[in-house]
Amino acid sequence: MSSKTKQVRLDKIKEEIIKQNICTDLAKTATNLVFGDGNVDADVVFIGEAPGKNEDLQGLPFVGAAGRFLDEMLQAAGLKRKDVYITNIVKYRPPNNRDPYPNEKAEFLPFLRKQLEVIKPKLVVTLGRHSMESLLPKGLSISQCHGQPKRYNGLVYLPLFHPAAALYNGGMRQTLMDDFARIPRILAKI
Ligand code: URA
Repeated sequence: MSSKTKQVRLDKIKEEIIKQNICTDLAKTATNLVFGDGNVDADVVFIGEAPGKNEDLQGLPFVGAAGRFLDEMLQAAGLKRKDVYITNIVKYRPPNNRDPYPNEKAEFLPFLRKQLEVIKPKLVVTLGRHSMESLLPKGLSISQCHGQPKRYNGLVYLPLFHPAAALYNGGMRQTLMDDFARIPRILAKI
């Protein structure tokens, strides 16, 4: 599929979220729908939890403090933001950055799956517990499975800690940076 066709299909998925009134309560308090951003032909897609304040205001994922940390790790792994695609499981900001509710994640999941079907990445990196639990089998513990690629339903997933959780936690920060640095080698093996 050409990049143009992919972009047209992604734009349609975004419109469907609005037309189908997905998570109307969140939509009412949010400034923008944060659908996703980056290269539609990316080999790697990163999936976070939900937009925060800056993301909501700009309509773009990972543009605040966690996003700067993500950019640093991308650079260290030899990846550029324009080469990857970044999105979230929940696409409206939850009030006061509370954790997304299970029904909110469930409502957005079909649209995230459609995004992945269009982009067809080699590797899906889940950032934090919420996107991992939405996409991988139940019962996984992120502290045990982080950094280990898993083949599931025809895709390769890499569960990682969330950059916002790791940002101010020295041990977790180093672990996340070490896991991140392995992405090019994991990609080369797929
Ligand atoms: N945290 C997330 O999970 N997603 C964002 O887009 C920003 C911060």
